Amino acid sequence: MSHEPLHILQHTFGYSAFRPPQDEIIDTVTHGGDALVIMPTGGGKSLCYQIPSLARAGCGVVISPLIALMQDQVDALAQLGVSAGYLNSTLSPTEQASIEQALVAGELDLLYIAPERLNQARTINLLHQARLALFAIDEAHCVSQWGHDFRADYLQLGLLAEEFPDVPRIALTATADARTQQEIIHRLHLEQARAFIVGFDRPNIQYRITPKNNPKKQLVQFLRNEHPEDSGIVYCLSRKKTEEIASHLQSEGFNALPYHAGLPAEVRASNQARFLREDQIIMVATVAFGMGIDKPDVRFVAHLDLPKSLEAYYQETGRAGRDGNPATAWMTYGYQDVILLSQMMAQSDGSLEHKIAERQKLDAMLGLCEVTSCRRQVLLNYFGERDHAPCGNCDTCLTPVDTWDGTEAARKALSTVYRSGQRFGVSHLVDILLGKSNDKIIQFDHQQLSTYGIGAELDANQWRSVFRQLVARGYLAVDTAGFGGLKLDEKCRALLKGEETIELRRDVKDIKQRKSSRTQ
Ligand code: ADP
Ligand code: ZN
Repeated sequence: MSHEPLHILQHTFGYSAFRPPQDEIIDTVTHGGDALVIMPTGGGKSLCYQIPSLARAGCGVVISPLIALMQDQVDALAQLGVSAGYLNSTLSPTEQASIEQALVAGELDLLYIAPERLNQARTINLLHQARLALFAIDEAHCVSQWGHDFRADYLQLGLLAEEFPDVPRIALTATADARTQQEIIHRLHLEQARAFIVGFDRPNIQYRITPKNNPKKQLVQFLRNEHPEDSGIVYCLSRKKTEEIASHLQSEGFNALPYHAGLPAEVRASNQARFLREDQIIMVATVAFGMGIDKPDVRFVAHLDLPKSLEAYYQETGRAGRDGNPATAWMTYGYQDVILLSQMMAQSDGSLEHKIAERQKLDAMLGLCEVTSCRRQVLLNYFGERDHAPCGNCDTCLTPVDTWDGTEAARKALSTVYRSGQRFGVSHLVDILLGKSNDKIIQFDHQQLSTYGIGAELDANQWRSVFRQLVARGYLAVDTAGFGGLKLDEKCRALLKGEETIELRRDVKDIKQRKSSRTQ
């Protein structure tokens, strides 16, 4: 058998050609060089270490946090005639011993290892006894303490460089802003590695974000109109909600299944297997679902709750349309999402620095929601790709957003926040502007405020939209220590003094875009 990468691609994997830059990456590693690969989900990262493992003498060691998928990966490789095994906590002592023997005897092409194993001196000793082709560090962003997938065990992987200086290392991830990239290089000692950064654009995915008013109904409408017979994923923030939404969709005639970390392992496994194997299954899941799932024909990813960051949004929506055919990333978004996430972040037990970083990530996510120009540009810009033209395949491109001069309304809203003491939430502030008289208004004597009743030109929904946009653009901050009261930000000053004007998005009902999405 030839050990040429192209020969292996065609004869072992059955594909005719490399997708650039797979060939260059494989060439680098096959010749003993280190590589850092940043490639979107579905881009074809696995071959980048699988083929060099076959082309080089010895066994390729793949470090992956996705223990649940190792069995599947090994089985899939076995079907291709590749001799692979894995070491993780699910093996019995006998199974483990037999894999270890096979490794030392040189019988394995690929060995998948859970990161915590590499912290054991025993595993390092074992690896020293074997001939190694390479180390592949998959999901390398887990080494970043700023990321949402941080795993302490990844920090130890830096020692591979010292322990095995002659074994090439390839780190791979789908998520990396500039800061995470630097952290991967630094922590994994990849200063000498060639970096391969593949474009983030997923042109076949149509991005749409719509104001949340009746999410269940909006979701059903979206599915009926555009994806009545498709497979897809609906992401929710809480476990309870995934079950609620799954049963609601079932009652509406869809094949929906829940998935979250609180379900018994066998239910999770069987729901995941059905999603992968059957057609037309809708998985209603928390973010626990999806990492490493390879289903090419997911036609939509719907978010009923706001993701915490653009990285998370991009990664989750990236599970749609891996086959390159049109797919939709659809999300409903409302003010409550902002409050909820802000509070969750404030209550998390990270350091202040960590909380600030999280807050910045959420702000970037809100920025995407409220933008009036092309959403794809915002997304790609965030990942460092600055020269894309408006895409023509997102809601803001397809239906240009109507804006209005919100300067006067914003001033009224900000004054109301100020005059009521910077501690009330949106509902109450809207009540003041509309001149409502209810218990709370009376209790705080808010009929006396100069802004009481001065907002009759807008209705409650429109006022909520004004507040949401002011928060998203950083004029107002959510007081996360308390109960979600709003405070003025320094940024307000110019607007309040009349030195600045503000254009606001006019909220539109979810526009039916079926036609445009199908003619792409
Ligand atoms: P990633 O790990 O980057 O998310 P995978 O390695 O799982 O992506 O690859 C995604 C899909 O693309 C898989 O189904 C894989 O078999 C396929 N694929 C990868 N490289 C090629 C290629 N050169 N030609 C055809 N299909 C490919
Ligand atoms: Zn666009």
